[in-house]
Amino acid sequence: MPALLGKLVLVTGAGSGIGRAACQLFSKEGAKVIAADIDLNRAQNTVALLNDIDEHLPLQVDVTNLQNVGLSLKKIMKRFSNPPTVVVNSAGITRDNFLLKMSEEDFNAVINTNLNGTFNIMQTFGNALANMDPSPGGSFINIASIAGKIANIGQSNYNASKVGVEALTKTAAKEWGKFNIRCNVLLPGFIRTPMVETVPDKVIEGILRQVPLRRMGKPSEIAEVIVFLASDKSSYVNGATIEITGGFF
Ligand code: NAP
Repeated sequence: MPALLGKLVLVTGAGSGIGRAACQLFSKEGAKVIAADIDLNRAQNTVALLNDIDEHLPLQVDVTNLQNVGLSLKKIMKRFSNPPTVVVNSAGITRDNFLLKMSEEDFNAVINTNLNGTFNIMQTFGNALANMDPSPGGSFINIASIAGKIANIGQSNYNASKVGVEALTKTAAKEWGKFNIRCNVLLPGFIRTPMVETVPDKVIEGILRQVPLRRMGKPSEIAEVIVFLASDKSSYVNGATIEITGGFF
């Protein structure tokens, strides 16, 4: 039997990269997928790739906008009558520059999307589950980055946002355990997605020399861990940080 048969899952950043790969694996494992992205077209393109297209819902959501996130919960309730019990925060952006040259706008944009956006989704959908009687439980999976741990140069905004996501996740794991809602955080390494398309070849070569497996990761390799954390196979995994880096740290 598929591991996630009938489960309702929400994935942000679902229009691309890791979010899209997670949606694809979720649908293979029998889940109903809410594919949320800032770009509705891309969310629809993701749903078009899934099994049983009509089971799923593409949704335009800007995670930085708490009101917009609240509205998305209403739309989900209207369509499915229940909130998702699995929530994956994969929406994220980079705006790289050296600290001395970074604009306030770029610093704030990254914190706002990666950290505040994760907060907005967690609080809205966490409340929806915690307020049910009895709570159905759940699994929240947040995507931070190994960049936060190693403090990549040129990414002070991104690194700070991702360390924040890790702390937010661990606090939620402690606060929400009583509702049987598990919260875990992934630290991917260098994964081949549109996010890293702008990284110059020279920089990629330099990074890959430090990766023991000598290659970039695939979005599907992150999706496998996401699906494990969403499933009951990980029922005692809570508050964990999982590095998926090919050994790079
Ligand atoms: P991606 O291909 O760029 O996908 C991210 C998606 O999130 C894009 O569709 C993006 O839209 C969307 N998004 C951006 N802002 C949003 C908002 N305010 N509301 C809703 N959606 C929004 O990136 P990815 O590589 O899959 O990254 C997914 C997550 O993994 C991110 O949190 C990233 O930081 C993390 N990560 C990635 C890597 C890597 O090497 N790829 C490594 C470590 C961690 P736009 O394209 O319009 O911005």
